[in-house]
Amino acid sequence: MRTNEHVLIAGSGISGLGAALAFGGGSRRVTILDRDPPPPATSPDEAFYKWERRGATQLRHSHAFLGRLTSLIRDRYPDLMQELLAEGTRLFGFEDGLTPPQMSQYAPAQGDDDLKLLFSRRTTLELVLRRYAARLPGVEFINDAGVRGPIVRHENGKVIVEGLKVERNGAVEEMRADVVVDASGRATSFPDWLRAEGVTVREESSPCGILYFTRHYKLRDGQDEPPRDPGGPAGGADLGYIKFGVFIADNRHFSVTLAVPEIETELRMAVMKPEVFDAICLAMPGAARWMNPERAEPVSKVFAMGELVNLWRHYLKDGEPQVLNFFPLGDAAIRTNPLYGRGCSSGVVEAHLLRAALDATDDPLARAKKYEQDLTTNIRPYFNSMVELDLGAIKRAANERNPDYQPSLRAKLTKSFTEDGLMPAQRGNVEVGRAMSRVFHMLDEPTAFLKRPAIVARILATWVTPKATKQARGLYPPKAGPDRAEMFKLLKIAA
Ligand SMILES: Cc1cc2nc3c(=O)[nH]c(=O)nc-3n(C[C@H](O)[C@H](O)[C@H](O)COP(=O)(O)OP(=O)(O)OC[C@H]3O[C@@H](n4cnc5c(N)ncnc54)[C@H](O)[C@@H]3O)c2cc1C
Repeated sequence: MRTNEHVLIAGSGISGLGAALAFGGGSRRVTILDRDPPPPATSPDEAFYKWERRGATQLRHSHAFLGRLTSLIRDRYPDLMQELLAEGTRLFGFEDGLTPPQMSQYAPAQGDDDLKLLFSRRTTLELVLRRYAARLPGVEFINDAGVRGPIVRHENGKVIVEGLKVERNGAVEEMRADVVVDASGRATSFPDWLRAEGVTVREESSPCGILYFTRHYKLRDGQDEPPRDPGGPAGGADLGYIKFGVFIADNRHFSVTLAVPEIETELRMAVMKPEVFDAICLAMPGAARWMNPERAEPVSKVFAMGELVNLWRHYLKDGEPQVLNFFPLGDAAIRTNPLYGRGCSSGVVEAHLLRAALDATDDPLARAKKYEQDLTTNIRPYFNSMVELDLGAIKRAANERNPDYQPSLRAKLTKSFTEDGLMPAQRGNVEVGRAMSRVFHMLDEPTAFLKRPAIVARILATWVTPKATKQARGLYPPKAGPDRAEMFKLLKIAA
């Protein structure tokens, strides 16, 4: 293996920080550039309220961090996990989210420790990760440094990346490196810069079909979080015309996100108003118990985010690398629907795949091929499933608006299988719940549970059980909120 390789990373968001973890503390030198200022060095609250961070527009949207990420941190960086917990973040395990029927069946099993969500504001995670990464030997952060393009040479039909042009204090300087990583996020300019050098960058893109709206709240002094209510209304649900989720965070903060289908034009205009946002949430029992005004107060405006797509960028052409010593990471490489909460886990996992590819060989061509192959194996199944689920949700949202909609037999069967088989089986059986939780946390590929005969048998048995029996056993969740017509009437919006 080459010694003293210099890795230059454009972007210090979650993926850039993941790369700092992966490459720091070893034989490599790591420089991380970001055009934004560093986080305030004090507390999670100061980072949340004061950090000027224009480079990551999703920073103040709800974030949840999946088991794939939390178990990676726990196993590889145990002291980082301790620092996160010391700053007020919390882990929420599989056993903490059991439904009443699951509780009576539960016994701890191998792997349950991996099914832990981290409850944290995104700013808190970044603050602590950054602080930890900056202490690793060989790691240097440079802020207020805007990448303006790659330094390249052309050789044997390939584009060889040799460093970056970086703007600091009004002047552009050249920084040379052995490896350049694009972790500059969803608005990366590298595809355009490399296309200008003759590289074909193919993009697969598919709509998420939603807009994201988030508002943050804080528990009032003397108030506690609502007690857990396993049989009660869920803290998140999909009502077709809207999805909502309560995101528990650190230091007495939480947020609520509303995801509104793009075609719900009237609703998405209205929801930007804080009073409308709150009225919608208060109509959802699972959110209302958190944001009841006596318990919590809003601490932010309503943040909105659109242009959400599932997008995969290909820098190889016909399986052959065209550009060497250059590796895209995180949202710069692959973007997915935020609803699934997989972006940060993916970015950090990809950083560690990249480290493995660079450790495996010094040959730039072999490195590029291995990294591409490992991305495909590890991330592609989730990407494909999100694309498919989003296209289904877009259709459902259109049907919600159409009073004349008559579902086909196939659509009826799919709905029935999901609502009367899959979901009640998950709610009623701890093994099904565990199997699906492994998919949710990105530990098993999305169809893994359907390849286990015992799980499929349980789902089918639940599907054919009469509805009334399932109801009596508590296998259906309580109503999540008003239907579309009721909600529009409540909000005085024309349906
Ligand atoms: C609304 C929303 C909600 C989400 N919720 C979740 C969630 O719950 N869980 C989850 O895991 N994921 C979630 N995601 C996805 C997650 O936010 C992203 O996948 C993740 O931030 C990607 O990290 P990144 O480092 O690749 O990019 P970013 O975090 O966007 O960071 C990019 C960095 O590059 C810097 N940069 C950009 N251009 C330049 C330049 N030219 N020079 C120097 N620096 C530059 C920026 O300043 C920024 O710091 C959500 C996404 C959205 C949009």
